[in-house]
Amino acid sequence: MISFCSLASGSSGNAQYIGNKTTKILLDAGLSGKYIQAGLEGIGVDPKDLDGIVITHEHSDHIKGIGVLMRRYGVPIYTTEGTWQGMVDKIGKVDLEKVHIIENNAVFSIKDIEVKAYPVSHDANDPVGYTFQNGSAKVGVITDLGHYTDAILDEIRSCDLVMLEANHDIEMLKMGSYPYYLKRRILSDVGHLSNETSGEIACDIVRNGRARNILLGHLSRENNFPDLAYETVRAIMESEGIRVGDDVMLNMTYRDKIGGLYVIK
Ligand SMILES: [Zn+2]
Ligand SMILES: [Zn+2]
Repeated sequence: MISFCSLASGSSGNAQYIGNKTTKILLDAGLSGKYIQAGLEGIGVDPKDLDGIVITHEHSDHIKGIGVLMRRYGVPIYTTEGTWQGMVDKIGKVDLEKVHIIENNAVFSIKDIEVKAYPVSHDANDPVGYTFQNGSAKVGVITDLGHYTDAILDEIRSCDLVMLEANHDIEMLKMGSYPYYLKRRILSDVGHLSNETSGEIACDIVRNGRARNILLGHLSRENNFPDLAYETVRAIMESEGIRVGDDVMLNMTYRDKIGGLYVIK
């Protein structure tokens, strides 16, 4: 059994809770320690009980609260060497014994949850996405990547729940106020997934996989709206003959508040 809850998702901060009775994991901690503590308590999880924080990459919207959580609660972290090198100067003094370096593509266990880190294409040192499995329940989170590969699809097709990046609407981004270099970066292979690409992935993992819950996340504040992301992905899926709400549930995560709590048996 695995429960999943997004505490916040977006360019101003990311943290997701994945856990069960035995094991409690945080995926990224890109908000203040105070926000994360309140978010966890809001779903009945005592931050002292966290067994580990797994980190995707060193951008500040993913690591802002790491130092505080490590110092305050003694929580161990799991990160690739490249990500660790990119964050070590930004998180203050921490107990190095709590730092576990993992390999890209590694499978490791945190108590009774099996965690897999797989490589993604993003403009960071050594970024990864993660899947989490306990028994037959499996969830995956795939945000902060510029494009997807067959290997990534393979990884998330076996998930019951997938949180999927729907960062921007391509037209809004192109027409918007961002400087040219930033538009190029976001649209590049090492940037972020658009609503349209998110729709393509959603179709694949419903048609060829077992996803029954898809959550959209990491929305841009400037270049997207929740309704637009949702409607774009829904329309793409329906155009492929997938009945949203019937074949699969499609829901949102939020920038600055806790999303739904999903229990996968
Ligand atoms: Zn991010
Ligand atoms: Zn990033």
